Amino acid sequence: MPLAVSSTDQLKEKCGVFGIIGQNFGDNTGLEAARLTFYGLWALQHRGQESSGIVSSDGNNLHRHAAQGLVATVYREEDLEQLPGHIAIGHNRYSTSGGNDDLYNQPFVDNKHNIALGHNGNLPDTSMLEEFLEGRGIRLKELNDSSMMAAAISCYMDDGMDFPTAIQKAWPLFTGAFSIVGMNKDSIVAFRDECGIRPLSIGTFDGGYVVASETCAFDTIGAEFVRDVEPGELVVITENELTSFQVAKPNLKLDIFEMVYFARPDSLLLNKRVDIVRQDFGRQMAKEFPIDADVIVPVPDSGIPAALGYSQVSGIPFEMALIKNRYIHRTFIRPTEQLRERDLKMKLNPVIDLLKDKRVIVVDDSIVRGTTMRHLVAMLFEAGAKEVHLLITCPPVRHPDFYGINTPKQTELMAAYMTVEEMRQQFRATSLHYLSFEGMINATGLPESTFNNSCFNGDYPISIGKQAQEIVILKPGEKLPRSKYKKVELASAKARS
Ligand code: AMP
Repeated sequence: MPLAVSSTDQLKEKCGVFGIIGQNFGDNTGLEAARLTFYGLWALQHRGQESSGIVSSDGNNLHRHAAQGLVATVYREEDLEQLPGHIAIGHNRYSTSGGNDDLYNQPFVDNKHNIALGHNGNLPDTSMLEEFLEGRGIRLKELNDSSMMAAAISCYMDDGMDFPTAIQKAWPLFTGAFSIVGMNKDSIVAFRDECGIRPLSIGTFDGGYVVASETCAFDTIGAEFVRDVEPGELVVITENELTSFQVAKPNLKLDIFEMVYFARPDSLLLNKRVDIVRQDFGRQMAKEFPIDADVIVPVPDSGIPAALGYSQVSGIPFEMALIKNRYIHRTFIRPTEQLRERDLKMKLNPVIDLLKDKRVIVVDDSIVRGTTMRHLVAMLFEAGAKEVHLLITCPPVRHPDFYGINTPKQTELMAAYMTVEEMRQQFRATSLHYLSFEGMINATGLPESTFNNSCFNGDYPISIGKQAQEIVILKPGEKLPRSKYKKVELASAKARS
């Protein structure tokens, strides 16, 4: 089984998955499932930009194409022509590490059992999986969490179980976040961890079914949203029917960061339109932090809905005074602070005429390492702004994510080692305000218990295994002991000088 990837602890993936099954797609060329998957993956590009892959089935064989790069460049016409059949799944991958080797890319295919899997999420605790696989004589050296899951399912199929039964049997070995699409020659499967940390929805299309990380992918191909895959649920879809198995007791905890940053604004999460929730973040901020200013400016794209919401409530004019170069990606995961800073200058440029001599409010979704804000504030003052007020549409991010978001170590999270006032001083901003935790939750219109809020409060709903030893659960107002963050602070000061 070609499952080798790089070392387990470096890979933290936030990805997009898609799957489709039907009898008669459009003109019946036999190519349509892969082509529709291609469009679906394009709509999910924001969830993963490192590599992309599609596996299709014509009922007899699985066919795969995957490569490094964006969806638009990974699939040429001739590649799609090599993916025949009425069933397909696809995966966009985003990770902090990885080479140009196809073995890093998903969906994984197991040619022995004719199954394929694509995983969105991350398993912070793979101890049970490792023990199981070692017991079966499988070498772990080059497996990551996703490929270990696939290997465990394969083991149970070796024992003679069918695909859905093997998934259910392997399920107790999976400790972490997983929203997975899979397929064999004649069905697709979709399953989600008991907390449903990452989204996964079901739609219908032309007499068939579609599953996708986000509903925006349904809109793109003209599919109709039906419902979410429930936390702890396994859905098996053949040409004729959808069968559901509630494998684990559901304990819904969608990652709140999907609402704050990840998901596309036109997607529905828990039946809430993400754009409207983000506008409400802004409206809430207008109530919590009324500021006397001349203009409100979003950091594109994620700050736009909240800035609009704030503008509507406050009456302060909204201006797109920061222009994003849409062809720059991945500033967040550059290996060094210097590289990230240079990327940022290429990524955002101010429209001086809209800022000169103005009291400016800037809205962004989050501060992680602080790189964006350090530079943005200086850029805005250089453009002639008189005051720069920063509004962040979530509470301080003080705990790392272990469930599939690419966040750095806790010692690199600025809000973990500095107070808000210390951060303001370091940014040289006129003021800095974070949306309150209650304000954020209220804006979603859903109870706090619906969400995984661990990046704010350190309350991890699924075991994070040994990683718990690497972090400090910070109470409100508390920060990391100086010894833990000193090196990071010095490094970033050096990078700025
Ligand atoms: P930083 O510059 O390190 O403070 O990162 C904050 C910026 O990165 C914000 O503008 C966010 O929109 C964006 N961001 C936050 N979380 C992530 C993530 N996990 N991956 C990529 N970008 C992110």
